[in-house]
Amino acid sequence: MKKAIFPGSFDPITNGHLDVIKRSSRVFEELIVGVLVNPEKNSLFTVDERVEQIKNVVKHLSNVKVKKFSGLLIELMNKEGAEVILKGLRSISDFEYEFQMASLNNKLDPSKETVFMMTKAKYSYLSSSSVKQVAMLGGCIKGLVPEEIIPDIIKKINSK
Ligand code: ADP
Repeated sequence: MKKAIFPGSFDPITNGHLDVIKRSSRVFEELIVGVLVNPEKNSLFTVDERVEQIKNVVKHLSNVKVKKFSGLLIELMNKEGAEVILKGLRSISDFEYEFQMASLNNKLDPSKETVFMMTKAKYSYLSSSSVKQVAMLGGCIKGLVPEEIIPDIIKKINSK
């Protein structure tokens, strides 16, 4: 059993992310959700807000931790003693990008392996950006993101 890191922006966390987190928490000894500080990206939520939201929705999963990070993923992995990069896969288009990233990370540090978990079919269309788009247009996001964060999303969008 290994320690894995699930990196991403999670702006915001969706039910697709959460499903991968729950399923992989049964596969790995410990799972760290790595929340990327991405100053160049125009995020809806600050990194600290995203960390708090994820902590709140994974609090019942005792082997899941949430950490923010910037810079190289490999550096966070070395700091945390993690051997595996966990990624979710939705489509062929995800595959092309993820294959490139996995090869690059393996070149940077051959001791790290990337493991992919297929999304559940019912979440295969779901992304943080599509959730934001629906919410901005006033659509219903119930079932797309954890219930607890729906008020946060609506409040944040209304304040922008
Ligand atoms: P998004 O693409 O939604 O903005 P992130 O960049 O935060 O998401 O992605 C973090 C990780 O979660 C990536 O490995 C991505 O492939 C995975 N992921 C995103 N959405 C889903 C989903 N609906 N099902 C499974 N995995 C997903």
